[in-house]
Amino acid sequence: MLLFHSTNSQAPAVNLREALLQGQAPDRGLYLPLQFPTLRREEIAEFANLPYHEIAFRVLAKFAEGCIPADTLAAMCRDAYNFPIPLETVYGRAYVMRLDQGPTASFKDFAAQMMARMFGYFLQTDRRQVTILTATSGDTGSAVAHAFHKIAGIRVIVLFPFGEVSLSQRKLMTTLGENIRTIAIDGKFDDCQAMVKRAFADPDLKHIPLSSANSINIGRLLPQSVYYFYAASRIAKAGEPAAFSIPSGNFGDMMGAVVARQMGLPVRKIVVPVNENDEFPQFLATGRYQKISPSRNSLSNAMNVGHPSNLARLVAIYGGRMDETGKIHEQPDLGAMRRDLFSSSVSDARTRETIQEVWDKYQLLLEPHGAVAWRGFQDWLAAEKTADHLPAVVLETANPAKFPEEIERLFDWSPDIPSAMEKALKMPEDFDRLDADYERFKAYLMERH
Ligand SMILES: *Cc1c(COP(=O)(O)O)cnc(C)c1O
Repeated sequence: MLLFHSTNSQAPAVNLREALLQGQAPDRGLYLPLQFPTLRREEIAEFANLPYHEIAFRVLAKFAEGCIPADTLAAMCRDAYNFPIPLETVYGRAYVMRLDQGPTASFKDFAAQMMARMFGYFLQTDRRQVTILTATSGDTGSAVAHAFHKIAGIRVIVLFPFGEVSLSQRKLMTTLGENIRTIAIDGKFDDCQAMVKRAFADPDLKHIPLSSANSINIGRLLPQSVYYFYAASRIAKAGEPAAFSIPSGNFGDMMGAVVARQMGLPVRKIVVPVNENDEFPQFLATGRYQKISPSRNSLSNAMNVGHPSNLARLVAIYGGRMDETGKIHEQPDLGAMRRDLFSSSVSDARTRETIQEVWDKYQLLLEPHGAVAWRGFQDWLAAEKTADHLPAVVLETANPAKFPEEIERLFDWSPDIPSAMEKALKMPEDFDRLDADYERFKAYLMERH
């Protein structure tokens, strides 16, 4: 059975079930496989003829062996991935992959849908009751709330920064009710994330079985490796390396690409554009890491992250050690990181220009996160002129209708609203409000347990 160990190295290795249910390791580190399972070249070549859910099954089976029976896992994948994943040609061999056709119209659905099914399965055989605490900058909360809605044995509490999520993002999580509670925090995403992290480490809350659905959870990460295999199987020849551009905030999505590469997917470059929260490109350039606090607001609000929680995993994969506060105890192999990764910061002005330019040139509508990805990809091409002919996939991580304000500002028309969103927009909301004060939040949890 595959085991997972903590990036802080002070906790015992556990199987997938424990890693998933715990979320964060007891030493506050993040779980990573002790050794990455690999797929042979021929196994990857077969993906070209398989539907998405079957690729998901073959990739995830490598991690779930001994924990989830194969036929159960296959059924979960079929059930979770029943929506289209368009790959649109932009020019030559450059594609945009739209990960926005799931129930809440962002790529977060890919992980949440699978993770909820895994939780449901483990708790059903375990008879455990769990409270899932999650902080969201907008899209995680709605994806998780939808995925876990009405799953027995699970209560979900979502914290979101009141002023930083769009109306449609908010409505997709505050209109569900039943086992889903939402709390608007008068603060920033980083405050929400810090409160959730503190609750996990708080000995006074030990009697409440808490788990996390944030990208610190390995169950979020693993399903996010699948669409890289899928995209490569559709646009690259067998064994041909592709480049991916992934708009990044907490670095969970890009870690999916790193996992895919560790498993054997040929990758030319992982391009990791960020918005004005540029701690990562700075680190890559200088080797000095400094979180941005408070995080900077920008148009791509799901990426307003001043200290990406998955960096500890990335650093670990490159042989270094970063603790949960962002302190680096051992430097990773920066040379290897620079060889494999490229990162640039895209300002709001460049984001707006890009939405306009991509529409004018290709009649392709991007929302702010996808625009950051496109611009970062162009930055990489400018830095590496020989890469032009390579197969490349730029990830569009949300539906433009989730960010209508920007589109309307630029074009004076509105993007089409997917039907799932339209329904939520009409329903009455219900959420609580709290200050960004940990003691108040703790009392809230204790009162409601
Ligand atoms: C969450 C999110 C991102 C950033 O993904 P990370 O895994 O946090 O790096 C990008 N775009 C959208 C639309 C998101 O919701």
